[in-house]
Amino acid sequence: MAVLPIVICGDPVLHRPAEPVTAFDDELRSLVDDMFETCEAAPGVGLAAPQVGVGKRVFVWMYESQGDVPARGVAVNPELWIAPVEPGLPGEEEVEGCLSFPGERFALRRSSRALLRAQDVEGARYEVEVDGWFARIMQHEYDHLDGLLYVDRLVHPESRGAQKAERKNGWGVPGLSWMPGVDDLEG
Ligand code: ZN
Repeated sequence: MAVLPIVICGDPVLHRPAEPVTAFDDELRSLVDDMFETCEAAPGVGLAAPQVGVGKRVFVWMYESQGDVPARGVAVNPELWIAPVEPGLPGEEEVEGCLSFPGERFALRRSSRALLRAQDVEGARYEVEVDGWFARIMQHEYDHLDGLLYVDRLVHPESRGAQKAERKNGWGVPGLSWMPGVDDLEG
């Protein structure tokens, strides 16, 4: 197991759709182990494979259990259904962050309920339904697999704040990353 560097906004792997997983093998198990370790070290509540430079449809979450949904989980080749997003501007409690846009936070309206269908690391299919912040995590991580960052979804004036932050930090170019536990940043 190893902590992996986390790719920063601007690298192409974060901005293109990830490829489906076809082999449920040791390489996948090792990737998932490393993703859990990286997510824990960051620390974060979720991490998608493109964020560690791997363009595969895999994400992990590390949050709080909800009903029979475990606190830690992995979603391979996920599908996500969400309830309609309430119209209006996001509230202050809807401030989100991303390990690939580290140290910055912006408010974004999300759906309050999500149904996830995915495979586990062995390839077994499962389905879970979550709400509240857990549903937000699922939407955030799922977006990563479609090449979308949460900052791509922001509306004015939050979107302007994110653009300024990107310029200020010198992001938006390929090849940048940071190392959890070494660099003093957080998502
Ligand atoms: Zn993210």
